[in-house]
Amino acid sequence: MSIALCGSSVSPGTAIGRARVQQLGQLDVSEYALPARHLDAEVARLHRALEIAREQLHTIRARIPSDTPQDIAAFIDTHLLMLDDSAFSRVPAEIIHQRRCNAEWALKLQQDALVQVFDAMEDPYLRTRRDDVEHLVRRVQQILLRAEHPPGVQIERESEPRILIAVDLAPSEMLLLHQQQIAAIVTERGGPLSHTAILARSLGIPALVGVNQATRLLHDNELLVVDANHGTLLCELDDAQLKGFQRQQKAERRQRRQLDRLRNEPALSLDGVALSLHANIESGDDIRTLQRVGAAGVGLYRTEYLFMNRPHPPDEEEQYQSYRDTLRRLKGVPLTIRSLDIGSDKQSDPGSTANCSNPALGLRAVRLCLQDLPLFRSQLRAILRASAHGPLRLLIPMLTSHQEITQVKRLLVQVRDQLRREARPFAPAVPLGAMIEVPAAALCADIFARQFDFLSIGTNDLMQYTLATDRVDESVNHLFDPLHPGVLRLIAMVIKAAHSAGKPLSMCGEMAGDARLTPLLLAMGLREFSAPPASLPAVKQVIRRSDIGKLQRALGRSLDSSDPKRIAQRLEGLLR
Ligand code: PEP
Ligand code: MG
Repeated sequence: MSIALCGSSVSPGTAIGRARVQQLGQLDVSEYALPARHLDAEVARLHRALEIAREQLHTIRARIPSDTPQDIAAFIDTHLLMLDDSAFSRVPAEIIHQRRCNAEWALKLQQDALVQVFDAMEDPYLRTRRDDVEHLVRRVQQILLRAEHPPGVQIERESEPRILIAVDLAPSEMLLLHQQQIAAIVTERGGPLSHTAILARSLGIPALVGVNQATRLLHDNELLVVDANHGTLLCELDDAQLKGFQRQQKAERRQRRQLDRLRNEPALSLDGVALSLHANIESGDDIRTLQRVGAAGVGLYRTEYLFMNRPHPPDEEEQYQSYRDTLRRLKGVPLTIRSLDIGSDKQSDPGSTANCSNPALGLRAVRLCLQDLPLFRSQLRAILRASAHGPLRLLIPMLTSHQEITQVKRLLVQVRDQLRREARPFAPAVPLGAMIEVPAAALCADIFARQFDFLSIGTNDLMQYTLATDRVDESVNHLFDPLHPGVLRLIAMVIKAAHSAGKPLSMCGEMAGDARLTPLLLAMGLREFSAPPASLPAVKQVIRRSDIGKLQRALGRSLDSSDPKRIAQRLEGLLR
């Protein structure tokens, strides 16, 4: 009989392969005292390890395939910059002398000190830097320990597909996996928005996160199946089960080929309703994928990725050029740029928020921008200046109160006046939109609909706040339920408010890309979907097979149902 471990699926697909268990984060680093005469040699040993780490990072950097998201190169550049900083190049050597200890231990002490400093920082953007410290220290420690597979992930090209099991993975390690044809990844830590999850999705590798004790329970080389469609990992399968998953894999490949053929077909329902399918992107480079799936535009450009993994935020000019270039590459296809949404939910490691009482409820997104007006102003100026180069909409995240709306609008008036005085061109009417992702905003959707040119429902955060469930805490991943009546009722309220006010409405949270939910969203009146590019073909397929009138009759009572499972069964029945 097979054994199953459960986790949260963050990138779908089925993979069959042999386990490669990576004991990351479980390095056996201990302190040992050194005699004074050995300290110089120990410092030299540390410097050699730092040099090897630098060489490894340069090698990884040089091997980045051209179609790899730009964020990955930025992650590696950050680690290279950190290696040159005195925090790594000088302080650990001093610790070796002061404490007369081994290099691994000196690095651990320095890591503890740096993590403490980052954790104490008010600025959520800077707080996220602690992940980089941990990943880099781990790399150097592994070199020092001559671990079996330094650094992090060294998986040779093998004839059989490999499934990587790790505590956590650094982005640079993810890149190695991409090159080494890893079939799937499984980590113990992280939620759907950890770096691992974001990059796994953009690299198209099936992935599960939050699989408790995976590195302890699984053994190297055992045969595994990752069913990332259902959040499970199975081992000790019998032949019949294995054959079943092989069939599932074949069916997935066939389905992908079929879906590819839909690229140029319109998103039109059987009863003639035209739907609008847009893509969520994290960098201008993602536009290639957008074209591959035939999206009508970008419904959400998460600009915060431009601000991550670098020592300083980009200035106005750099942002302007980046947004302008993205618009140029889109060649007239509309772009919805979201203002900076940095904050607690963008951290890859839930542990790193330990010192904040309630980071998801704290200073993030527009709240943070309104506290740091120079940062916000420079982004608004860059976005407005870019608007001279193509159709652009501006979307503001996390809006909750009337006061925030007024502040944002006042700032935009000031920025426009300034640009006019400087004779800098910008589009006369850039539609201004609000993300509806806080329950208070959903409840007041009629007010928001009057105040804004368009609305976009951010279901990831709307669910987090409605269900009081931290989206990056693996221990509560199971509590996320898009079919919870509380979530559905809020969505229905927003749809109704936008329709009554005659304002365009989109949904840009992950729900919009979940084809299993598409019939329900269509029945509820949603007409514009924005989702990760890879999920759009499946959504389009459901749309093209749907008669919306019939769906409304079949699902009209769903909002009255108190049982999400019953709605899920009904949806399953409709999709069969
Ligand atoms: C959301 O919250 O649904 C959303 C789209 O924004 P993000 O996932 O970037 O917070
Ligand atoms: Mg959000």
